[in-house]
Amino acid sequence: MITTNSENLYNEAQKFMPGGVNSPVRACRSVGRTPLFIDKAKGSYIYDVDGNKYIDYICSWGPNILGHCREEVINAVKATCDKGLTFGACHKGEITLAKLIQKHFPSMEMLRLVNSGTEAVMSAIRAARGYTGKDKIIKFEGCYHGHSDGLLVKGGSGLLTNSIPNSAGVPKGYTDTTLLAKYNDENSVEELFNANKGEIACVIVEPCAANMGVVPPKEGFLQFLRDITKKNNALLIFDEVITGFRLSIGGAQKYYNITPDLTTLGKIVGGGMPLAVYGGKREVMECVAPLGSVYQAGTLSGNPVAVTSGIETIKILENSVSEYDVLNEKSAKIEKTMKEIGLNVNRVGSIMTPFFTDKMVIDYDTAVTSNTENFAKFFNHMQSNGIYSAPSQFEAMFVSMAHSDEDIDYTCDVIKSFKL
Ligand code: PMP
Repeated sequence: MITTNSENLYNEAQKFMPGGVNSPVRACRSVGRTPLFIDKAKGSYIYDVDGNKYIDYICSWGPNILGHCREEVINAVKATCDKGLTFGACHKGEITLAKLIQKHFPSMEMLRLVNSGTEAVMSAIRAARGYTGKDKIIKFEGCYHGHSDGLLVKGGSGLLTNSIPNSAGVPKGYTDTTLLAKYNDENSVEELFNANKGEIACVIVEPCAANMGVVPPKEGFLQFLRDITKKNNALLIFDEVITGFRLSIGGAQKYYNITPDLTTLGKIVGGGMPLAVYGGKREVMECVAPLGSVYQAGTLSGNPVAVTSGIETIKILENSVSEYDVLNEKSAKIEKTMKEIGLNVNRVGSIMTPFFTDKMVIDYDTAVTSNTENFAKFFNHMQSNGIYSAPSQFEAMFVSMAHSDEDIDYTCDVIKSFKL
């Protein structure tokens, strides 16, 4: 596969952007490749600037559950653009989107639209602190909640990929109130609550972790978090930036039937435009300005183009609820093929990760036992054969409703031909 144009652009990009990219994992460093520069995408396919066509399992890291360029979404977005890109003012679409979100996430009694998952989580935590009057938070090793200062502690995603355990530039004081627990380890949470009695504002968790690779919650873990937070007057925040509208139309909270106090959504909720959401219990959200004293704002928040993209995407998903089963079956087929060649796969619904370890991957410690050199070989085999998937062990593979049976069969054939 010739990728000369991508390589030339990458050389140029490095003069202007750190590592030539605007988000670190895109640099493909851990798999020893240079990034592909993308020209266009349609349905399940993505095309690079050398004219190569790939079946896309990155799906923009999750948003494209409908595949790329779904006609109804694009047309609605174009029509909205004609009326103005941003007003910095109220418009009807905000209410339409809020209603749609609330219909499927009834726990979000009130919500706020923001521009990125990072912003949504940062704001949800601020609301939790404002509401409870407590400072400390519990997060889990290997869970990623965006790049705000207080959350850059043993995060997953690019922090793991690029072996950055924490981040430089974060004053110690910013993370002093971030307590770390182990995913799927109830004792580690209990110990923190015991050692910090009356001081914990919230527990934030990816209800199905996807940023240390996919790591599902073990049976009873989320219920345990629900119970212990309630007992300690702390809030439970589900970071559903990845799982929202993906594990089911009602996200992980519907899939696992556990109701958090606050939820963050991103990716699918904006249908590919910069849009994210935080929300939850009315009494907590009423603490947010201008009603309350928790400040949070945004010039482009709720901008009409992103809102339209979100509305149209969710409307299509509403009419495709049975498609979720099909999507899961397609994903199961890929999982089965990976297992047949001896890979250790974690899958929930349409997100999955193959690991290169004999250990069951249940948390950060077991995720990092995966042999990342072997992952890189797998990634390179896939990409050389026209499969575009995450260039990092510590991310998820996303299947979309646009992937055809032929796409899946071809993908399985490529997997079968992989040899270490
Ligand atoms: N939370 C989770 C669970 C995520 O996966 C991500 C990004 N992958 C974020 C928050 C941050 O979202 P964003 O990149 O939009 O800031």
